[in-house]
Amino acid sequence: MKAMQLAAPRTPLKLVDLPTPQPGPGQLLIKVRACGVCRTDLHVVDGDLAQGKLPIIPGHEIVGTVSEKGAGVERFAPGDRVGVPWLGYTCGSCGFCVNGRENLCDAARFTGYHLDGGYAEYVAADQRYCFPIPADYDDVAAAPLLCAGLIGYRSLMLAGEAEHLGIYGFGAAAHIVAQVARYQGRKVYAFTRPGDTEGQRFARELGAAWTGDSTARPPEPLDAAIIFAPVGPLVVHALRASAKGGTVVCAGIHMSEIPAFPYELLWGERVVRSVANLTRRDGEEFLALAPKVPVRTAVEPLPLAQANEALARLREGRITGAAVLVP
Ligand SMILES: [Zn+2]
Ligand SMILES: [Zn+2]
Repeated sequence: MKAMQLAAPRTPLKLVDLPTPQPGPGQLLIKVRACGVCRTDLHVVDGDLAQGKLPIIPGHEIVGTVSEKGAGVERFAPGDRVGVPWLGYTCGSCGFCVNGRENLCDAARFTGYHLDGGYAEYVAADQRYCFPIPADYDDVAAAPLLCAGLIGYRSLMLAGEAEHLGIYGFGAAAHIVAQVARYQGRKVYAFTRPGDTEGQRFARELGAAWTGDSTARPPEPLDAAIIFAPVGPLVVHALRASAKGGTVVCAGIHMSEIPAFPYELLWGERVVRSVANLTRRDGEEFLALAPKVPVRTAVEPLPLAQANEALARLREGRITGAAVLVP
């Protein structure tokens, strides 16, 4: 099979020809139809995260069809359409796993980081972490739901009952979260890189009540803010824009250093928290909700061999919505 593989951090992915994986016990062999390009892939390629597996095939927003199943697979049959998310394995027995927080499992393994992912024609995945894909979406449109959607949804849940919701960084996750937030009756305030009028126009199209530069103060104090951009100083800007009792959710896996700030910005029971990974329950809830909203994804399909271009454009903020690789 053809795959785009990373041999070492900070080097371009290489188009390689590899043996098609064989599904082990409990695994599905999936023919990849579409794989979204997520900012986390960029952190893997740029070496921002602790070393995962190398070489690695990135990609954890995978939509495909089951072509073979390993021993003991009962949930899916050949021909079924499935999605493979970031969470690829958990131990099932640690304290986190047994109390509903498998996203924090110490032994967790992640797709496209510890386990070969979807920048390929085929992927093998543990059936227990795969999801059926709602029929309302075609393969390319569904891909960004698998991470931008799922982790965006978890971030929104952890933002609490916020009526005035700020979103910092208006990319793939934000464009989905904005639609869900509006559906839930919240007001969305979209913050972009200073001067990014194109991003602000995109946010207004998706129902943002207000858009502005990340350094600006919104017309109303925020009850919560979700930060998708990997930029530490945004935490301080978001705290400054928040009402008492407000929550600032850092939704990315990596962020540059957060500058020191005066305690009065946190005072008043403001909370700063991160969101890590997803649980299977987040996935089930979100994939049931998405067609009801209905969430529409803005996607730009690109051939698999253009993975490096897709990553470069994401790094430079030159993607509107989500890039999706098609093998
Ligand atoms: Zn565990
Ligand atoms: Zn992701």
